[in-house]
Amino acid sequence: MSATVAHTQEQPARSQKSPPRVKDYETTMKLAITALDLVRSHLTPPNPKTFEFWYNYADGNNQELRAEVDAMLKQGPGKLSPYDIEQFYDQFIAGAGEKDAERAASQGLGAELKAVQDVLRNYVEHSKTFGDTLSVSMGELKPDASAQQIAKTVQCLIGENQRMERETSELRTSVEHSQEQVKLLESRLEKAKDVSLYDPLTQLRNRRYYDQELPKLIIKAALDEKPLCLAVADIDHFKRVNDNFGHQIGDGILKLFADLLMKNIKGRDLVVRYGGEEFVILLPETQLQDAIVLLEQIRTKLQGLSLSVRTTGQKVGNVTASFGVVQLRPDEDKGSLFERADQLLYRAKEEGRNRIISEQM
Ligand code: GH3
Ligand code: MG
Ligand code: MG
Repeated sequence: MSATVAHTQEQPARSQKSPPRVKDYETTMKLAITALDLVRSHLTPPNPKTFEFWYNYADGNNQELRAEVDAMLKQGPGKLSPYDIEQFYDQFIAGAGEKDAERAASQGLGAELKAVQDVLRNYVEHSKTFGDTLSVSMGELKPDASAQQIAKTVQCLIGENQRMERETSELRTSVEHSQEQVKLLESRLEKAKDVSLYDPLTQLRNRRYYDQELPKLIIKAALDEKPLCLAVADIDHFKRVNDNFGHQIGDGILKLFADLLMKNIKGRDLVVRYGGEEFVILLPETQLQDAIVLLEQIRTKLQGLSLSVRTTGQKVGNVTASFGVVQLRPDEDKGSLFERADQLLYRAKEEGRNRIISEQM
């Protein structure tokens, strides 16, 4: 899409050679102005990436992007964070390349499977010819056949047999080749799909992964009759960190918090970067009381860190986080589970931050 943005600047220069495409130029300029207005009205950072994001939103060609952004904007002011813009950018603008890779890999898989089908169909047809030749030859061979007739039939059968051997060996080579191709394409497909399920900054799973994984965890908890807890964590006064120390230090703190969360969970637990400085922790097979103990450990470890800027030695001061945690109720869906935890997080903020608020079932 940067080509589209550059397009607006290239246009006047090009118009010296060929007749000016006034309509295109004006349309593009209008879009650029709208994009700038959107950057400003939504209080989003005035950088090229944000501009490109709003430009794509404004031109409306990507309907999926437009629908998702509109849905988020409807939730109220301030709901579209720089993190969300990053995510949308990766998914719909930069991520277009990944989608192409995914499409190419799955098309490749389809072509390879068709090739295997063709090889097998060919083989079946040839084996049928072999079977036919065999029965014709056997039919021709009467009990009183002469030595010459027998020799001719045997010769014919040997020839057919050799042809079949060749066919079989070719078939094996083709199938082996296809198997290798399929494996390669499968791994490419997996990679292309997987990249879009991680948050690039923290390397945690992202909201898209959470959306596809949580329903499965809920079903599993219900089937196994095991508890499932969901916690929402949000770094306190994170805006101040950015304002006082810059975005880069803010990013560093997000990574540090993500690492702290990861270090404190077990294998089956899941940590997700849900939004800007908001994280979700999913704890299968965990009772609420145990979830609270775990979150309390995380909360105190974070509070106890003495952080300073590596290059300048400047003290960042204490960074804290607030948590809301709930245990899945019978027949509860993922929306309600999250909502309850989010409400408790809101209460934790109201009651002074740096605390965990939980609710019995
Ligand atoms: P509260 O204690 O109520 O949660 O206050 P807060 O300042 O943490 O919350 P607020 O929602 O006012 O601000 C969140 C800030 O997080 C604003 C936004 O710029 C910042 N943020 C969101 N995503 C990122 C990111 O990827 N990197 C950095 N550095 N900052 C981010
Ligand atoms: Mg916060
Ligand atoms: Mg927040």
